[in-house]
Amino acid sequence: MYYTSTRDKSVRVTASEAITKGISSDGGLFVPTEIPKINEDFIKELIPLSYIERAKRVLSLYLTDFTDEEISYCVEGAYKQGKFSSNKVAPLYELADGEYVLELWRGPTCAFKDMALQLLPYLLTTASEKTLKDTEIVILVATSGDTGKAALEGFKDVPNTKILVFYPVDGVSPMQKLQMTTQEGENVSVCAIEGNFDDAQSGVKAIFTDKDIEKKFKENNLAFSSANSINWGRLVPQIVYYVSAYCDMVEKGAVALGEEINIVVPTGNFGNILAAYYAKKMGIPVKTLICASNANNVLTDFLKSGTYDKNRDFYCTTSPSMDILISSNLERLLFHLSGEDDSQVREWMQSLSECGKYTVTDEVFAQIKALFDAGCCDDFATKGTITEIFNSKNYLCDTHTAVALNVYKSYKAQTGDSTPAVIASTANPYKFSASVLSAVSKEIKADNEFDMVDELFAKSGEPVPAQLASLKGKSPRFKQVCNKNDMKQVVFDMLGI
Ligand SMILES: *Cc1c(COP(=O)(O)O)cnc(C)c1O
Repeated sequence: MYYTSTRDKSVRVTASEAITKGISSDGGLFVPTEIPKINEDFIKELIPLSYIERAKRVLSLYLTDFTDEEISYCVEGAYKQGKFSSNKVAPLYELADGEYVLELWRGPTCAFKDMALQLLPYLLTTASEKTLKDTEIVILVATSGDTGKAALEGFKDVPNTKILVFYPVDGVSPMQKLQMTTQEGENVSVCAIEGNFDDAQSGVKAIFTDKDIEKKFKENNLAFSSANSINWGRLVPQIVYYVSAYCDMVEKGAVALGEEINIVVPTGNFGNILAAYYAKKMGIPVKTLICASNANNVLTDFLKSGTYDKNRDFYCTTSPSMDILISSNLERLLFHLSGEDDSQVREWMQSLSECGKYTVTDEVFAQIKALFDAGCCDDFATKGTITEIFNSKNYLCDTHTAVALNVYKSYKAQTGDSTPAVIASTANPYKFSASVLSAVSKEIKADNEFDMVDELFAKSGEPVPAQLASLKGKSPRFKQVCNKNDMKQVVFDMLGI
């Protein structure tokens, strides 16, 4: 199987090349030239298997230039016993009849990004041995909070790699910030930028395609790659958990094999929900993909109108990992739905960068309507959902998951569609203690992050992840804040070139 670029269909690379490069040199994203198909027999065979074994089977369909031994090495390293706080890796929790929460935050940094970023370093180093001998890989990350920490944790002290993370200075939660600024490891750097996530992401994308930097990197035997969901190596591990969740739904008797499910995803960069789209295209019976947004509801409007328009106010919400107005992975969906029309995709992306908007064709919009539903909610409604779920179901969820649960409730009320649903839960509630605590407790005594954690524990009894508790009292190692226009220089400084 080969990969091509969303902006130039003549590009043809292997999975290894797609993963090591991260982004195509024309600025497009790598996509598979065809989506592998699985049938009921394939799913039936997966059902009795562990997450690790399921992952090997699914990944081998996409990473066709990796040997079976290489895939086993990567998957077993990423998901081995002890790394995730559930032996199922991504367990399904039955919240109500026909409503299943897919807990994707059981990994080392307590957010769903671990599902991909524990595997990516293995994929990348294995791939680079095939494509880039004797070159050091520099991972450049723009983060709205969770990717940065998960990437740092995944790549720390991985030989022949360096990792540099940029985050918006006021755009992450205190716990997220502390997780990143206290990161250990010899090959890591972290810098805040004055700007929002879109600024960080645009800066990183510009660095990737900067010819000047490319030259300097060649001279120093360095090569960039990306740990953001623009990298195919980030997306492909996410397809696995939707396939696996379907197997668990059948195993639990929530659906019979072949029966449809709905999938609800709290969305930012459109990566997680795009992985669900690929799972559906592979043959997982999915009726509707429900895209949930916070007050930054550019995707809700797009999926309902066919016009993407980022010319609007940007809000800093209580679900900061979804505070995004440019959802990069949408480009991949547009490529597939337009019949792989690269010139059309180029036109839309150019319009997006020049005017901040574009409108898709009627044909593409008709497919979007058939595949997706969308909704959004503000911080007040998010908080109300956390309260309601805690009081009625004794289940503590984080702000991002609450957005999904809120949107799903509205969807169900409006459509009457009671198809069994998998709702992606993307973070542990203690990553956003202040918001979660204020939803479940009327009187808050705590005035700092760790007292809030303690108070939330006293109220809910939900265990505090050790990796968050241990941050208490740690002093930050990385304190630099830079202007968004200086990112290039910061990269040079960090690398000493
Ligand atoms: C990254 C993130 C999201 C958004 O995921 P996308 O793949 O960018 O759509 C949602 N919730 C949490 C907690 C996240 O960290």
